Amino acid sequence: MDKAFATRAVHAGRHDFIKMGVHAPPLDFSSTYPTPDLDVAARSFDSLVAGDAPEGTFVYQRLFNPTTDRFERALAELEGAEDAAAFASGMAAFSAVLLAAQKRGTNVVAVRPLYGTADHLLTSGMLGMTVTWATQDGIAAAIRPDTALVVIETPANPTLELMDIAEIVRQAGSVPVMVDSTFATPVLQRPLTLGAALVMHSATKFLGGHGDVLGPGSILALELGSDDPAVLRHFLGTLEIITPAVSLGSTDSLIQPPAALTHRVVEEQAREEVGVSRGLLRLSVGVEDVRDLWRDLDHALAEVSSRLEHREMAPVLAP
Ligand code: PLP
Repeated sequence: MDKAFATRAVHAGRHDFIKMGVHAPPLDFSSTYPTPDLDVAARSFDSLVAGDAPEGTFVYQRLFNPTTDRFERALAELEGAEDAAAFASGMAAFSAVLLAAQKRGTNVVAVRPLYGTADHLLTSGMLGMTVTWATQDGIAAAIRPDTALVVIETPANPTLELMDIAEIVRQAGSVPVMVDSTFATPVLQRPLTLGAALVMHSATKFLGGHGDVLGPGSILALELGSDDPAVLRHFLGTLEIITPAVSLGSTDSLIQPPAALTHRVVEEQAREEVGVSRGLLRLSVGVEDVRDLWRDLDHALAEVSSRLEHREMAPVLAP
């Protein structure tokens, strides 16, 4: 299903949660991983060095860490990138980009203002690069045969100067453009879609989040036109975005049949008296794009509907 950005922002990096049986991202603090089978470990090591997925063991956290991998996948998805790499800090990421760029040449064309320390790193020549400072309409003229990279920051720290990314990419020609997008996040700006080759974030800033703000009045109770457990299971199993899980008020949408789970310890008669029927579903609506939620529900309802039609019953949503 083609999902809207708001939906992907909630679900990115959570692809394996249902399979793992978890709802919050498990944090893996391991600095190394057991390698009881040397052949498996050697194969996995080779695979990781080649940039592929680990097999059988993660070997060593600097090569692969599942928590970091989850973050990288999520960021790549939101930026529309082929891949993402997480570092201990934004400056570590920038340093790695500068070192990698030296394969192409040792000059950087950059537009001020940049974050102070990024400016200093370039000006000092500490990593073996020279810098040519340019204005945003003077990029083409500043590029030299040994220019390996164009660096811009937009909105820039601290003036919020805005750059025309697509125009800078056009001027840079075959030289890759790196955009520090810390102040915008992929919510507001996706430089790769404008032709930039690299996008960088200081992830402790706007990109960081806690997922603890609560989308009020987000609970809905609904009934399918049947309390047949098989129909209910089929409906829940067909949902793709809405996660079947107890609890509520999360950024992602959750659904559950209270009679079977959260309220199963309440006497059946008491449940029925207050309207908690066996067919009741409680939906906690998250902050995904509402059109994706509607499509998810529509699709699952259509599936259930065809089952019910088979039994010559029509599905009815309770008000
Ligand atoms: N880029 C911008 C725009 C920043 O504001 C910062 C830090 O404030 C950095 C890069 C550097 O990131 P870090 O402090 O994570 O090394």
